[in-house]
Amino acid sequence: MSEAKSFRCSNCGCEEFYCNLRKHIIVIVNGSNKFLKEHKEVKRSYTDEEPYGPYECTNCGMLYNELNE
Ligand SMILES: [Zn+2]
Repeated sequence: MSEAKSFRCSNCGCEEFYCNLRKHIIVIVNGSNKFLKEHKEVKRSYTDEEPYGPYECTNCGMLYNELNE
């Protein structure tokens, strides 16, 4: 997969988009099943999963199903 040509909003040229990320986050709970804190590797885990559309331009709100339209 080539990252050479990054998608830009065709309306305003912005390169940042809102999208969705579904993932499992490992957390630490106490003996009452109450959330205490995130697992220390949670930051890295955000880049382990592939985000998916629809994508919305963070600048002008233009919607895209894929970042190549
Ligand atoms: Zn835009």
